[in-house]
Amino acid sequence: MPSLRPRGWRLPGRRAPSSPVRPAPALREIDLAGHEALVDQLTGLANRRALHRRLEEALAEPDARAALLLLDVDAFKDVNDTLGHDAGDLVLRQVARRLEHVALEADLLARVGGDEFAVLLTGDEADDASALGRRLRGLLEAPLEVEGLGLRLGSNIGIALAPRHANDATGLARRADVAMHLAKTHRTSIEVYSPERDRHSPARLALTAELHGAIEAGQLEVHYQPQADVRTGAVRGVEALVRWRHPEHGLMPPAAFMPLAERAGIMGPLALLVLEQAVVRCARWRAAGHDFTIAVNLSVTNLMDPDLPAEIAALLSEAGLAPRHLELEITEDVVMADAVGPIGVLHELKELGVRLSLDDFGTGYSSMAYLKHLAVDALKIDRSFVRDMADSHEDAAIVRSIVALAHALDLEVVAEGVATQRAWFAARDAGCDVAQGFHLGRPMAAEGFDAWLDEHVDRAVL
Ligand code: C2E
Ligand code: CA
Ligand code: CA
Repeated sequence: MPSLRPRGWRLPGRRAPSSPVRPAPALREIDLAGHEALVDQLTGLANRRALHRRLEEALAEPDARAALLLLDVDAFKDVNDTLGHDAGDLVLRQVARRLEHVALEADLLARVGGDEFAVLLTGDEADDASALGRRLRGLLEAPLEVEGLGLRLGSNIGIALAPRHANDATGLARRADVAMHLAKTHRTSIEVYSPERDRHSPARLALTAELHGAIEAGQLEVHYQPQADVRTGAVRGVEALVRWRHPEHGLMPPAAFMPLAERAGIMGPLALLVLEQAVVRCARWRAAGHDFTIAVNLSVTNLMDPDLPAEIAALLSEAGLAPRHLELEITEDVVMADAVGPIGVLHELKELGVRLSLDDFGTGYSSMAYLKHLAVDALKIDRSFVRDMADSHEDAAIVRSIVALAHALDLEVVAEGVATQRAWFAARDAGCDVAQGFHLGRPMAAEGFDAWLDEHVDRAVL
């Protein structure tokens, strides 16, 4: 007759070594059928349902405090696929035993999915959630013997706290899950939930809903940052950078809302809005005698839209701007998208006669092979290299070799993020053609840009 208490259920802990292990009330009353429904048959730990019940119970107590750790074993699927399911089961059992070993203070240890485990800490123990998470990870990294192989398992852990992040079982579990996925995507291994980074948090949802109306309300505006010939200081072009003038939050940078726009499915309208304003503005500058190109950033999502080339062609002809005065900035993840779509659209844009530049160069693949393939006209060296170039031999060497290669391929080189005069000189000495950055000018609203332009004529940047 198996014990009615799933393993890991209120494990004998340091907290009260003398007190007998108290089966949780929810389990005390249940019969064998109920037992099976609350125990994970493979590992003998509590299962998802048991965790949910215990969580509800714990959170119902007055002034309840709890931490829920959700642990996902890395690449477990590979173990299953390579060694077979029996070996996979063995691994999961061994993982369970190890977790039991470490989670002595746990209120409950459960296996909640294929390769997902949960640890519930209640009361004061909840304060030690992060430390426990680190210990759990460390423990799983020690080699595990399976079929004569020493397996090292990675894991990702998400932590959510009650009442801080949620005060109900479902909410807490969901937030631990969000944190765990953040740990996975950011390769940080352990994350504590944070509402600002939760794409589903009420604040972000509200903002996403507002973003729909923001376009019509004219709250999205384009700011302009100048680019100049690094040798003469003459302004050559301008980059259009979008901002959201939010009625309550003030002027918001793209990083604060572009991910929302992506989720809200409005990257298309947003790009057209920026393109239209930028193209019209550039036509005006050119009419006033400035020989500028205008650069606009496009996301991979934009390049998936087969209508984009025709829309851009229409905007250009309406504004009376020749295609060669428009430069579209794309990033290396276009290559990642491994779809024919974006590449096809790029080629159509190229045929239209617009210029293409590769943004943030050096941060992504930086595989030179596809430079030719993408048919770009310019490379923008990421500011992380430019920033330290004046002081770092390595960064200077990297920039020089990028410049050499780019020039051999007949590409122009733009140094981004040139924030000081030293950086400006370093960019010039490394052979860059164009410089952009705070040293020359910050991104400015259109009117501010015109004022800056008047002044810049006699202001030395060199
Ligand atoms: P990016 O294309 O690399 O744009 C340059 C960013 O660097 C801008 O940030 C600019 O303000 C900043 N920057 C320029 N010079 C300096 C400098 O000297 N020092 C430092 N520290 N920063 C400098 P911003 O405007 O916040 O834009 C961030 C990113 O958002 C852009 O990076 C671009 O990837 C994206 N973005 C902006 N506007 C649009 C848009 O209309 N569409 C799309 N798809 N992306 C956009
Ligand atoms: Ca850019
Ligand atoms: Ca950039």
